[in-house]
Amino acid sequence: MGEFDLIKQYFTSQAPQQDLGPGDDCALIHVGTERLAVTKDLLLEGRHFFADVDPYRLGHKALAVNLSDLAAMSAQPTACFLGLAIAQAQPRWLQAFSQGFMDLARQFNCPLQGGDTCASQQGVIISVTCMGTLPLTVTAPLRSGAQVGDDIWLSGQLGGAHLALTLLQKAQQAPLSDRDKQTLQACRDALELPQPQVALGLQLRNIAHAMIDISDGLLQDLNHILQASHVGARLFEAKLPVIPELQTAETAFRRQAVFNGGDVYQLCFTAAAHDRPKLEALAQANQLHLSRIGSIMTSSGIELIDQHGQAFELAVSGFNHFK
Ligand code: ADP
Ligand code: MG
Repeated sequence: MGEFDLIKQYFTSQAPQQDLGPGDDCALIHVGTERLAVTKDLLLEGRHFFADVDPYRLGHKALAVNLSDLAAMSAQPTACFLGLAIAQAQPRWLQAFSQGFMDLARQFNCPLQGGDTCASQQGVIISVTCMGTLPLTVTAPLRSGAQVGDDIWLSGQLGGAHLALTLLQKAQQAPLSDRDKQTLQACRDALELPQPQVALGLQLRNIAHAMIDISDGLLQDLNHILQASHVGARLFEAKLPVIPELQTAETAFRRQAVFNGGDVYQLCFTAAAHDRPKLEALAQANQLHLSRIGSIMTSSGIELIDQHGQAFELAVSGFNHFK
């Protein structure tokens, strides 16, 4: 049983009718005349981060991955809560971790308003809950909102986090070559200091039909949209925004990094073809990378098209606990 079947079988709850329960990037809870978007992510030492990761960066990332889910719901961040379990209270580590967390919280106007702290016997465990608002006048860009004929868009660039992770794993076996060190330096921020696309998420209100952040890899996360919307997709490899460090890499590795690499925290969304000029103008005005990478089809699954217009196969192997 994979992660997503497990959630479906045991934790599909009956949310009140007007609300949105488990299954999307955030839950949506009606409070008076407002909607609260709420999300929670768990980060485990050895699973989501190396034990010796820079604590400032860890604090940043723990909040960033949650803000990214708010961005994918077009929500405006309002508050966050921090659950933290650590083996020992080391002041230097705590100082840096909290600084990384607080700096990002300040940047996004999302103050820390509570949490819980425990001693851990299993390394560091971090659980952050984030909430934001989504006015009733905005159609939530749910995973189920994609429509046949929509364009598929992607913000940012692909491959950096996967390449950095691969190099950090390699460095645990043997010292890196100078060339690998340089490459790691160029792409390490993508893995350790992801910038949540909150501003873009807000600008896409009432433009994006369906939206997700690709924390678990492009193919796997796009598949969540396709399954929820009962549609298929065609993706053009030549249109994918690939980081320069991967452009000369071996095809199999590049494809794995680009299509299945996780920890991206960019937004993948679908929008009507008539909104192309609006999106191109938005990208230009904000100096953003926005790539139109494919379209939504009546078929099911994802059809991948290479540079020569030929279809090719690639297994979906994004992040899935228990699989
Ligand atoms: P994301 O990658 O956007 O954080 P996930 O893939 O982790 O989302 O989770 C998919 C959906 O399943 C989310 O709506 C999440 O809230 C829900 N979910 C995950 N674990 C649980 C759980 N233990 N109980 C209830 N809902 C859960
Ligand atoms: Mg998400």
